[in-house]
Amino acid sequence: MQAQRVLIVGGGIGGLTAAMALSRAGHSVRLYEQAPAFGEIGAGIMLTPNATRVLRHFGLGAALDRRGMRPPASRYRRFDDAALMGDAPLAAVMESTHGAPWLHIHRSDLLEALLAAVGEQGATDLYAGHRATGCEQDGAGVTVRFGNGASAEGDLLVACDGVRSTVRAQLVERAQARFRGQVAWRALVPAGGLPERVTDRSSVVWIGEDRHIVQYVLRGGSLVNYVAIAAQREWVEEGWNRPAPLEEVQKEFAGWHEDVQSLLSATPADALYKWGLFDRDPLEQWIHGRIALLGDAAHPMLPFMAQGSAMAIEDAAVLARCIGAFDDLDAALSRYQGVRRERTARVILQSRAQTNLYQRLTGDKKRQRAASTEWVYGFDATSCAIQ
Ligand SMILES: Cc1cc2nc3c(=O)[nH]c(=O)nc-3n(C[C@H](O)[C@H](O)[C@H](O)COP(=O)(O)OP(=O)(O)OC[C@H]3O[C@@H](n4cnc5c(N)ncnc54)[C@H](O)[C@@H]3O)c2cc1C
Repeated sequence: MQAQRVLIVGGGIGGLTAAMALSRAGHSVRLYEQAPAFGEIGAGIMLTPNATRVLRHFGLGAALDRRGMRPPASRYRRFDDAALMGDAPLAAVMESTHGAPWLHIHRSDLLEALLAAVGEQGATDLYAGHRATGCEQDGAGVTVRFGNGASAEGDLLVACDGVRSTVRAQLVERAQARFRGQVAWRALVPAGGLPERVTDRSSVVWIGEDRHIVQYVLRGGSLVNYVAIAAQREWVEEGWNRPAPLEEVQKEFAGWHEDVQSLLSATPADALYKWGLFDRDPLEQWIHGRIALLGDAAHPMLPFMAQGSAMAIEDAAVLARCIGAFDDLDAALSRYQGVRRERTARVILQSRAQTNLYQRLTGDKKRQRAASTEWVYGFDATSCAIQ
């Protein structure tokens, strides 16, 4: 297809990957981000092989190796005595089974690598401080309006504006977000002086009744990222940036092993955030004329499979391939939705089913789980069928 004028709203992981994939394919891209600058403070994320495979394909392998960490294993420990309940190898198995690594990386390091790749291609104009407030389309294309009074016109709009997408809200009847009975706290903690079990290069899941903590190190082992999750009956608002007092998470995890207490008490002041876990049923329609939804805007999900970013990265690769493979833009967008919807719906529903998986795990179930991840980690968005 001839080069398209692509507008992207949202400069997170999905938006930047889409900009990279579409500009590499020869399209002219303008990307608009609401924040005053690109990149974000954020926290750690796990990138599974289905995501790193795509990023490697786009030439980010070396950048990811420099910034990310390859955990040797995923360890499971009892909440009270730290006894090892399981130990699943990651680094060696992921590369040999799936041909791509499992990485832990600081979100801002990933965004920095994506921004550098987008900059090297030179076909994307980046605009920070542009909050999209609405959009219209007619036979000539799509117009996006911004809160600062600016507007932009293109052949196609890709909405990558996240879980609370303004573009999706304009197009789709508001889908009911449901609270799933779990609350999470997250923080990044300097690793210096912490016990060996929490500065382990492997990821560690501490498991107790109705509670668990996932923790792993970042940036060469200098930081520990933790997410502590506990069952709770009610919650009022969606969003994951609400500051929380340290005493709150300490109270929830009182009586847990002393290593866990050391980790929690090392949380710097004002570095603890809290959010209630919500999700929605899979959306039927991602394409509205020349507007396509991508990433969390299309398929927000619970974090229990660590697949939110991975799905956004896969979406971006498939969207660029579909636009390249069809002469007609409408046919290309329809194919994009066709290829992506079923897979992302399966991940949404599976993540929901795994809501309190860790609290229920036995050794046997962990083994079964390991055997059933091929459909997730083995998927190749750079070569899957799109015709
Ligand atoms: C604590 C936590 C841990 C997670 N861990 C993992 C993990 O380990 N692995 C994994 O794969 N996923 C993980 N996820 C999920 C993952 O972060 C998301 O799925 C992923 O960031 C989605 O990317 P996105 O680009 O669609 O949206 P986002 O990353 O949310 O980016 C949206 C962008 O759009 C911008 N924006 C929003 N509205 C507008 C507007 N109106 N105009 C212009 N710009 C706008 C925002 O500022 C933002 O930059 C985690 C999520 C959370 C909350």
